[in-house]
Amino acid sequence: MGVYQSQAVAFARYATAQVAYHEQVVARHQIDGTGCCRWCGRVWPCDQLRHARQMVDHFSQWALTDEPARGTMLVRPYVSGK
Ligand SMILES: [Zn+2]
Repeated sequence: MGVYQSQAVAFARYATAQVAYHEQVVARHQIDGTGCCRWCGRVWPCDQLRHARQMVDHFSQWALTDEPARGTMLVRPYVSGK
């Protein structure tokens, strides 16, 4: 049971990091005055935005919603690893 719980917690932290990361992507990919994406220049909504929204929806099922500050910290490995 201890092993199961720790895996569940680890996955919840992973899901939280995924939500935080993809929320940053959603925040970057916004429409500009010409109807294109401000970040990547493609027709808006661009593929990255749609994908990021799907990932936010997907991982929100398991994300820890009561620690937004730590979620911001957890996103760093994903950002620096790109
Ligand atoms: Zn974009």
